Amino acid sequence: MILPGATIGMIGGGQLGRMFTIAAKYLGYKVIVLEPDEHSPAGQVADTQFIAPYDDADALAVFAEQCDVITTEFENIPASVLEKLAESCPVHPSAAALSKTQDRIIEKDFIRSCGLLPVPYGVIRTRSDVATAVAAIEFPAILKTARFGYDGKGQITVNTPEEAVEGYEKTHKSADCVLEQRVDLACEISVVLARNVDGEMQVFPVSENVHVDGILFQSIVPARVEEDIARAAQTAAKRLADELGYVGVLAVEFFVTKQGALLVNEIAPRTHNSGHFTIDACVTSQFEQQVRTVCNLPFGSTELLSPVVMTNLLGDVWGDSQPDWTKVLSSPKSKLHLYGKAAARPGRKMGHFCTLAETNEAAEQEAKQIFNDLS
Ligand code: ADP
Ligand code: MG
Repeated sequence: MILPGATIGMIGGGQLGRMFTIAAKYLGYKVIVLEPDEHSPAGQVADTQFIAPYDDADALAVFAEQCDVITTEFENIPASVLEKLAESCPVHPSAAALSKTQDRIIEKDFIRSCGLLPVPYGVIRTRSDVATAVAAIEFPAILKTARFGYDGKGQITVNTPEEAVEGYEKTHKSADCVLEQRVDLACEISVVLARNVDGEMQVFPVSENVHVDGILFQSIVPARVEEDIARAAQTAAKRLADELGYVGVLAVEFFVTKQGALLVNEIAPRTHNSGHFTIDACVTSQFEQQVRTVCNLPFGSTELLSPVVMTNLLGDVWGDSQPDWTKVLSSPKSKLHLYGKAAARPGRKMGHFCTLAETNEAAEQEAKQIFNDLS
């Protein structure tokens, strides 16, 4: 066990790192954030910030020396970096687990190897693969870059084989891609869980997720899906975590099709936007659970204390000046979270608010009212 008072290293300085750092501070840990941006959300609240690129060997060596355990908030850290750090300091999750989730092609192979279903897709690594990929799916489809996509970035809709070729060559500049069938969604759900070094797991309640333009807009909990779908999603997420030998907090995004099938969309080897509701509505937040898990402390309860709706605040809501926060603050069962980002660009995640109520319908109604008043 790595006890309070010890130092946790966080690679990445975004909002997930910030909320992790706040949770770690509550438990009396010190946190060092490694992040190239000197004004990062996590750096603002950490004890110490290493302002350096993620692959700066000298900075990494000092970082590993000063930390008792290291964790991450994003998946695109080169595996070689985590392997190097792991030579001198425990690192959770491992480079091996991360590398299965950094590339959509590897990730989908992995999902199938676990006996689970990804969205129908084809792989495009060269132009000549387009014909085979097209044969594997039905249009309309989404052409996604295999690596470095997030919040709907690196994705374009394609309706014909010709558009797939053009998207691959022009928009995606011949980077490896997956061509995914556009699925008729009944809804999207996600599961956040924690797994410790002994392979024990604690799963958070399933979240129902509403996306707008490929970016999460709201999470509604409890999810309004059949009990057996929710249970199947939790079981599938546990299976994936087990097969990865995962240690830390992991999230799995699912599609529920109109035909009632459960498809695995993607795996995030970290805390997740759809798990932010846990801060205000669960006994233990996903961030505290990450602290507990990487430090090998006992798990906290994942019990849901109240129905909740989490609403994201993107830069779009800002306009010329910051929104009138009294719209959120005057709703007594809403909780405002802002990430300390200076520039509010469209599509940029600036904060979120959680609205608690007797039912998730009432929470949704209240949240909708607040959001409309804000924007
Ligand atoms: P990101 O890494 O940007 O989160 P996702 O693959 O999760 O990428 O896509 C973002 C969102 O776009 C999804 O949550 C979903 O709303 C929509 N989407 C992506 N792929 C599909 C698909 N094959 N069929 C239907 N909707 C999709
Ligand atoms: Mg996603």
